[in-house]
Amino acid sequence: MEVRYERQVLMDEVGYDGQKKLKDARVLIIGAGGLGCPVLTYLACAGVGFLRIADNDVVSESNLNRQFLYGPHCIGKEKALTAKESLIRQNPNIKIEALFERVNEDNAERMLNGVQIVVDCVDNAETRLIMNRACLYTDIPLVEGGVEGYYGFATVVKKEFACLECMGYRAEDTRATVPVLGVTAGIIGMIQANECIRLILGLEPALYGKILQYDGHHATMRQVDVKIDPNCGAHKHLR
Ligand SMILES: [Zn+2]
Repeated sequence: MEVRYERQVLMDEVGYDGQKKLKDARVLIIGAGGLGCPVLTYLACAGVGFLRIADNDVVSESNLNRQFLYGPHCIGKEKALTAKESLIRQNPNIKIEALFERVNEDNAERMLNGVQIVVDCVDNAETRLIMNRACLYTDIPLVEGGVEGYYGFATVVKKEFACLECMGYRAEDTRATVPVLGVTAGIIGMIQANECIRLILGLEPALYGKILQYDGHHATMRQVDVKIDPNCGAHKHLR
């Protein structure tokens, strides 16, 4: 066992068995932006053995208030590949696959091939809804997060619990440019990374059937219970 993991291996919830689970884990991260940077960084640091990054964007200057895997020299470069290079420098012992691709209905199945968890770090409702259904139908847990200004949310979707459509997400909810403080994206991304690691370790995610709401104005977090909507368009195909 590498010394770099010593401090987490000391935890009862991790140990050598848990570290082996992290090493063997395969995770898809969609979006290498404000949420993706903290998610990718902490999964890589924890020793998650395989990360697939899907992102079809290039780095722009306006990303740099929150997307800390990039610097001014990265402007114009593909985020997925640039993030991979940065992460491998931090932890050369993991495998990373960088895909310069936007997730859509046609490639969703291929994206999910061989992964056990999806962490959704996108800023548009359309991709979220495609992944929401794809993960429900393949029974892969989906760790969701979103941010706006000082506010953020996180939840974990699985077919036995409420999904994004149950929660009222609609494709038209996407906005062009959302204001966001880098700190907010960092906090929500780290909650997503934490839920992902808990899933890998075989622990029940705290956010199945719950939305965690973060308010950076008042430094508060609260959980709201959400139930499966009997009229949910995504869930009805599972019955
Ligand atoms: Zn649903």
